[in-house]
Amino acid sequence: MGKKLIVLGHGYDRNGNFDPGATGNGTSEHEWLNGVFLASLRKYADGHDIDFYTQNMFANRDANTVTGYDDIIELHLDAASAAAKGGHVIIYHKYSPDAMDHRLGNMIANHFGLRGGKMFHGRDNLYNLNTFAKRRLSYRLLELGFITNKENMDYFKKHYDVIARDLISAVVNQRIETDEGKGSSVEEKTPVPSTEQYTGIVEYMNRNNMDSSFANRAKLAAQYGIVGYKGTAEQNNALLRKLQTGAAVKPVKSIEQMAQEIIDNKHGNGHENRRRSLGISAAEYAKVRAEVNRRASGAPAAPRKTISQMADDIINNPKVPNGHAARQKWLGVDSATYEKVRARVNQLLR
Ligand SMILES: [Zn+2]
Repeated sequence: MGKKLIVLGHGYDRNGNFDPGATGNGTSEHEWLNGVFLASLRKYADGHDIDFYTQNMFANRDANTVTGYDDIIELHLDAASAAAKGGHVIIYHKYSPDAMDHRLGNMIANHFGLRGGKMFHGRDNLYNLNTFAKRRLSYRLLELGFITNKENMDYFKKHYDVIARDLISAVVNQRIETDEGKGSSVEEKTPVPSTEQYTGIVEYMNRNNMDSSFANRAKLAAQYGIVGYKGTAEQNNALLRKLQTGAAVKPVKSIEQMAQEIIDNKHGNGHENRRRSLGISAAEYAKVRAEVNRRASGAPAAPRKTISQMADDIINNPKVPNGHAARQKWLGVDSATYEKVRARVNQLLR
């Protein structure tokens, strides 16, 4: 039996860009998987030939380069409506599940139930999956239940230690006992993670019938002056405070709207003057200015790809740069459009 690599989905890439993954029930994929769950995984992996990849492998494009592993297992949480629940194993669409896939699938079925009653799903549109298939390396992506489902997450938060034990057991094909030596007794002894570490923004929004999706939180964050929203705990807490106190919202205009206002002479003369009047950053103003110039020159708007086409590019085009700002620029779209592309990418990659 060779060396295994367990990949934690999402998180920071090596340039420091952060992707929280899907969010729900007061946490994110990154926050949940890399917290107490990872600690338990490491505990049970001790003494076995297992490494952990805790950065954002997708963003680093490291599926191309990691070597020395016979099996790679990537961990995620699924996201959809609050009702969707259960986990599954994603494998390359042309492959049949192997013995490890079956062991992991059974582990998921035991703990979370199966999404739509199906243990395996074949996919052909995930970068890591496709890349490892091309390299003929054994890889599967596990969806460990739905982060958006209360039942799945309550269970996960309560039983993460046993789930970690069973996951590592499935990976090494060997029944690992808990520290106490009795699998059944561990449940009462497992410390439940403090709810304090979760921000509660999603729960708050759901309770108040608000759209708690990342895209909508990013939009609200911008309106409340929270710059560069990435869904970090700090930003979520800040946003929660704003929502709870009913802070004043700063309306966000599109580049096109702001360009039109400048053409309509609503912001006076001089770039600095106009920028201040619009209340935007220099970078944002540069885009408005480019749009004003484009309109003045009569040049056609850049041909638009669909959101799905752009999301596909981000996932599969090896030339895609790292970092959201760089990617937005690379696509040549405004922030609102980029957020849609990003949401679609997250949907495909979760
Ligand atoms: Zn994910």
